[in-house]
Amino acid sequence: MPAFNADSAYAYTAKQVAFGPRVPNKPAHTACGKYLVAKLKSFGLAVHEQPFQAMTFDGVQISGLNIIAQYQPTAARRIALFAHWDTRPFADADKQHKNAPMDGASDGASAVATALEIARVLSQQPANLAPNVGVDIILVDAEDWGHDDTTQADVKNQLAGSGTDSWCLGSQYWAKHLVPAGYKAEYGILFDMVGAKGGGLPAKGLAEKCPLGGG
Ligand SMILES: [Zn+2]
Repeated sequence: MPAFNADSAYAYTAKQVAFGPRVPNKPAHTACGKYLVAKLKSFGLAVHEQPFQAMTFDGVQISGLNIIAQYQPTAARRIALFAHWDTRPFADADKQHKNAPMDGASDGASAVATALEIARVLSQQPANLAPNVGVDIILVDAEDWGHDDTTQADVKNQLAGSGTDSWCLGSQYWAKHLVPAGYKAEYGILFDMVGAKGGGLPAKGLAEKCPLGGG
């Protein structure tokens, strides 16, 4: 297997950040989505685009796009790799500008970059050494425009009680409208914030031990 190249993954992170915050309905979001689709296609993966409409907790109608890219799409055994490519419109931890969007270098971009680098490495694997599984890179959208009880206690969550969680709107849409139809994986790995200082992917107890929390 060709080696995972950290510099390459970093470059994919920087490229996403250079678009600006990838907040749904903004031009930077659209441009980055096009870049991701083109990049995954350039690696020879079969790419499916799943556009969807959703309403956020603060009443904004957004156009989202889930991007599903399949390596060896005909393989029966499949592994799913998930990351979200949108960025949060609110910098909750910023004392002065908590309602400003953030770059999302770690929260979003670094995970997408990790998936892109895995796709690049897989695409370079010689056919006679290809793994006997397919790999699906599922980049979900509109994950981080959710209601934060601690920083947004003054803002009403209009989705409360609706049956739709305010977070992970793209994941919820994909789960209800699977692409590819009838999709099943043996297992999945969800990446997020892997580029943060001290970030990582502990083998065990991720939810309990990850110092970076959710997202
Ligand atoms: Zn996140």
